[in-house]
Amino acid sequence: MPGLYKDEGIVLRTIKLGEADRILTLYTAHGGKVRAVAKGVRKTKSRFGGRLEPFSRLDLMLYSGRNLDTVTAAHLLDSHKEARSDLTRLSAAAALCELVDKITPDNESSRTVYDLLVGGLDAASRAACDTVVPAFAIKLLSISGFHPQLNTCAGCGAGGGLGAFSAALGGALCRGCWSQDEGAWRLSPQGLGLLAELLASDFGRPADPAAAHEATDSLRRYAEYHLERPLKSLSLLTV
Ligand SMILES: [Zn+2]
Repeated sequence: MPGLYKDEGIVLRTIKLGEADRILTLYTAHGGKVRAVAKGVRKTKSRFGGRLEPFSRLDLMLYSGRNLDTVTAAHLLDSHKEARSDLTRLSAAAALCELVDKITPDNESSRTVYDLLVGGLDAASRAACDTVVPAFAIKLLSISGFHPQLNTCAGCGAGGGLGAFSAALGGALCRGCWSQDEGAWRLSPQGLGLLAELLASDFGRPADPAAAHEATDSLRRYAEYHLERPLKSLSLLTV
């Protein structure tokens, strides 16, 4: 229904529209993922200044349109500018926003996802840490219907000898089941253990870099299997 409404939101990404406008993809506290036009935002004297940039958390006034909403006012709550201060943090923050953009459906409200995104961006801004992205990714996958089975084999239920991951079965595999699943890939006990810890803990836990790399890459493959499209910013983190 057309009309003005207020919400709090985070800018996930922006694309240019015409000469001076941008289309923003926002994740909002009450409305979930929303696309909205910001008019005149690319003019030097824009009333929005530089506030409508990716990672920014804003108090927004929006006008609900038939196809796209329009941003009518924006008050900056947190720019997460530290996330732009070096490439590691920037890559991490970009990966979190891409994950939310690609995994969450349009206009489906989830306060859990919103709070997770705020927490993830805060963590990515604070410190360059290898585990912010995999910690975020596994939590987001879990609450989006892809909770992975990590402690027992997703094929046969065995509790030991786990050494691989199956995207199709959504969890760890023992050696016997691995040989029967062509799409499964190797995942060391350290990588599996780290995934389980990240699922249960907060963001930014220090970890062995090799295990963190393995965990991140497995989550990328797991998410891409279900999304059926690449996650570019996560690929950059695991080259
Ligand atoms: Zn098995």
